[in-house]
Amino acid sequence: MEYPECFSCGASTAGGLKILGQYLCSDCEKKLVECQTGKIEYQHWIDSCRRFWEKTAIKLNGSEE
Ligand SMILES: [Zn+2]
Repeated sequence: MEYPECFSCGASTAGGLKILGQYLCSDCEKKLVECQTGKIEYQHWIDSCRRFWEKTAIKLNGSEE
């Protein structure tokens, strides 16, 4: 079975979740939870969230360009 590509790390693994149409794998979900409680890989998540919102904005605008 195929799984969507994680918007953060690019992995296609089971057990993740979808947020606003974007897929987040279970490993990244755990990291995100840890990040929200404190400290881990903060800069990585800033970059990931930026890509996430860019992709989401593209979809909301209905344009691939
Ligand atoms: Zn991931």
